[in-house]
Amino acid sequence: MKNKKTIALVAHDNRKKDLIEWVAWNWKELTDHDLVCTGTTGKLVQEAMHTKTEEHGVIAPKITRLKSGPLGGDQQLGAMISEGKIDLLIFFWDPMQPQPHDVDVKALMRISTLYNIPMAANRATADFIISSKLFHHEYNPIIKDYSEYIKRTVNL
Ligand code: PGA
Repeated sequence: MKNKKTIALVAHDNRKKDLIEWVAWNWKELTDHDLVCTGTTGKLVQEAMHTKTEEHGVIAPKITRLKSGPLGGDQQLGAMISEGKIDLLIFFWDPMQPQPHDVDVKALMRISTLYNIPMAANRATADFIISSKLFHHEYNPIIKDYSEYIKRTVNL
């Protein structure tokens, strides 16, 4: 993980306001990094970042928008994590309501855990991550060695 990071941002509908407030508060930190978002979240992040960067005459960061979460965006993100393309995930999921794509939500959390990327599900954790000194440095998360598991399954 280089100094310049690729940060994934996702929020369920009831949490979008919280995420956008967090983005607007931290816009300056975020401009130095590439952002990847699910579709609708990405639209709102783009607007918030555009407003802030325009206001301050700063170049906006690269923002990639994937499909909307329920239409496969979470799975696209999961695939990117497994390919080492995402350094950290800010994922404000809704603890109060079931989602049509709950299985994808669980898969995204599972794959983030498996690949040991920092993952924030609420603002407090997101605040701790963005203010960590590791946020500004190169950091290589330790990935558990699964070679024995692979060997075992190949020999089945
Ligand atoms: P959305 O998807 O950004 O397109 O709303 C988020 C999600 O539900 O995972």
